[in-house]
Amino acid sequence: MMNIFETAPGSAARAVYGELLTKKICRHSSLCIMKQQTINKKSALALPMANNFTDRARAVADTCVDCSICVKQCRFLTRHGSPRRLAQLFLDNPTNNLAFHCSLCRLCTAVCPKDVDPAALCMAQRCQVAHRQEEMQTRYRSLLAYEKWGSSSLLSSYALPEGCDTIFFPGCALPGSRPQRVLDVIDQLRRQIPNLGVVLDCCTKPSHDLGRLDYFQNMFSGLHGFLEEKGIRKVLVACPNCHRMFSEYGRLEVQTIYERLSAPHRAEGEACVTVHDPCGVRFATEIHSAARRLISETGLSVQEMKHHGPKTLCCGEGGAVGYLDRDLAQTWTELRRQEAQERPVITYCAGCSHFLGKRLTCHHLLDLVFAPQATLADRVRVSRSPLTYWQRWRLKKKIAALLAPHRPLSRREAQT
Ligand code: SF4
Ligand code: SF4
Ligand code: SF4
Repeated sequence: MMNIFETAPGSAARAVYGELLTKKICRHSSLCIMKQQTINKKSALALPMANNFTDRARAVADTCVDCSICVKQCRFLTRHGSPRRLAQLFLDNPTNNLAFHCSLCRLCTAVCPKDVDPAALCMAQRCQVAHRQEEMQTRYRSLLAYEKWGSSSLLSSYALPEGCDTIFFPGCALPGSRPQRVLDVIDQLRRQIPNLGVVLDCCTKPSHDLGRLDYFQNMFSGLHGFLEEKGIRKVLVACPNCHRMFSEYGRLEVQTIYERLSAPHRAEGEACVTVHDPCGVRFATEIHSAARRLISETGLSVQEMKHHGPKTLCCGEGGAVGYLDRDLAQTWTELRRQEAQERPVITYCAGCSHFLGKRLTCHHLLDLVFAPQATLADRVRVSRSPLTYWQRWRLKKKIAALLAPHRPLSRREAQT
């Protein structure tokens, strides 16, 4: 195994995650949460980040040289100190709540010249306190309810036509906010993949990020196991968070729809936009390129913000920080607003689009691709909660009609 500490600053982390995403060999540092998982992946869906909290914290405390490179980039670390200090704090008090103020965005991991992974430390620390059920249920009630509805019999749906080995998995936020875009995507994908299946369910990343690993493992394994059993080999996702969950914990091939789609319409005139890469796919440069290709197919040009690609910033929604510290979450959004410099921002995460849209002009890439004129004129209708639940239920019915006569199953039916 090569010594990744000898490579150029920042490049090792990119190489490690890039390789993982393309399913090549593992050359992780001893601090990386992915190391054990890559090995376990061959046998079962594994959740290693809960293990060895103490070892991980000690390793960060020993390896971090307090150079402040990550601290200067991160609003959370600026307030609470370097990863080395945090590791010591967590070791002294493993049930400390501070890790819930970290966005889990991995910018620190991307910039660290010593290949320390502070995001993994915060994730492991979250797992130490997630068993405090009552506290979690009270603080994150609406988020957990949102997640639960996604997997409910009412909203989940497994539409798997005969001979189908590839599914489109739109996630939760996109079907609720933009059901028409889901139908547009299905229409274009079915021309490439006639037996395409469509699965409406939740990848349960909220529970994952809150450290509720038992719940996450149970739900994600159920979903993944059923797909494997039905002969599904490939998952096409719209949401960067789903991409991360399927890539890190699944055995199925995973790709974003942005790498498969083409833009059917061109925008009139010339306009310049900028791109917010969602932190869930921070290290997946092929997805960053696909998003920019689609934008250029609509005839628009892209001017990059200072932080983009592997060094992108969190939109503010990451790690559910806003439930605990709204001000801190908003400082991330404000940073994005400043870097955008009044240019329209295009992103490919419905969560980012919603969060950034509160402070700046932000459009979802799928709106731009399928309705460029209306999008640039800010005339696209985007549903907000609680209407989103009704939209998802209606979409489920429309997909059933589209894929008839194959009756889709709900999650409960699929797993009994
Ligand atoms: S994961 Fe993001 S928020 Fe957390 S410490 Fe790293 S850069 Fe800061
Ligand atoms: S985690 Fe890395 S970048 Fe951050 S202070 Fe420590 S050595 Fe420097
Ligand atoms: S909404 Fe997107 S950018 Fe924001 S934290 Fe989630 S994945 Fe990252």
